[in-house]
Amino acid sequence: MERVHNFNAGPAVLPEEVMREAQADFFSYKGMGLSVMEMSHRSKEYQAIIDETYAAVKRIYGLGDDYEVLFLQGGASMQFLMVPMNFAFEGKEVNIIHTGVWSKKAIDEMKKLGKPYHVAASSEDRKFSYIPKGFELSDNPSYLHITTNNTIYGTEWKTDPDVPAGIPLIADMSSNFMSKPIDAQRYSLIYAGAQKNVGPSGTAVVIIKKDLLEQAIPGLPSMLDYQLMAKNGSMYNTPATFTIYMIGLVLKWVEDFGGLEKVEQNNIAKAKYIYDAIDSSGGYYRGTVDAEDRSLMNITFRLPSEELEAKFIAEAARNGMIGLKGHRSVGGCRASTYNSLPLPAAHALGEFMRNFQQQNG
Ligand SMILES: *Cc1c(COP(=O)(O)O)cnc(C)c1O
Repeated sequence: MERVHNFNAGPAVLPEEVMREAQADFFSYKGMGLSVMEMSHRSKEYQAIIDETYAAVKRIYGLGDDYEVLFLQGGASMQFLMVPMNFAFEGKEVNIIHTGVWSKKAIDEMKKLGKPYHVAASSEDRKFSYIPKGFELSDNPSYLHITTNNTIYGTEWKTDPDVPAGIPLIADMSSNFMSKPIDAQRYSLIYAGAQKNVGPSGTAVVIIKKDLLEQAIPGLPSMLDYQLMAKNGSMYNTPATFTIYMIGLVLKWVEDFGGLEKVEQNNIAKAKYIYDAIDSSGGYYRGTVDAEDRSLMNITFRLPSEELEAKFIAEAARNGMIGLKGHRSVGGCRASTYNSLPLPAAHALGEFMRNFQQQNG
């Protein structure tokens, strides 16, 4: 059967090559007579899989031994509480840049934990339709937390922010993880739910600089303790073994693709098909965010009426393009164009948008 053009926001499309490789090894991994799902996480074969996946994360972002990589359960949402539990130090404030629903959830966890925080910048005044261009830190920040891509609104940081020396920069990169080259060394902690850009759901990839990790607040519950997780190579308990294996295959695909520069070029080309259809529509399609902050990963737009939006989504689905409904909190349309979305899918959507306008304009 043909595959659909999958614009889902997450869980999202995975590379065809990865799906086929997983399928070939599904029943009997490398002729071992069992699936990766059926393997002990303590076996040497599984250790080789997870070790190679750690190594690929570091290779792709150009990170050395001063960083630790972890694969943790609970998704990106658990990182919203794990980060402050470990690093919201006594007598300091967590600083956060508020750019939408996900940073709101991170703030809500700090409230529940009773951790003092300071909103260093916010784009709430214009419904999160832009990325704040400056920020004001409090007197004594424990760290600064940003959301590098706002999956729901379609805004993205185009540069890695400048933070004064000594203040750790922590980023929720769930929806643009490994989608372009970044200055990874600038970050003390990066986390990402795998299901947007690098695999199926079930795991958050966490990258932590060791000098921050060493300072973590002691005595935390085991499953929320980064140091304990690091000491045990993410295997204090049973990890999401199959998800991590799939992440490994996707990362190999990223490297075979030519690395992050090539991935970014492809992402730019894909997004252009769709943004061009918006920009040349004379206002029929209306982008919902400031052009300079437009995301390469989640492209949000409106049509002249909600009726037309419903018709657009239904007709796109009949043409094999699924997942175009905007997030329930904002409405409208959203095309997610993650790394694994093939170029022809984005091209097909751009063409469909032009045709739809002609017939319904
Ligand atoms: C999807 C998403 C999350 C939540 O991820 P879960 O793995 O479902 O917890 C958090 N932050 C961002 C930016 C996201 O896109």
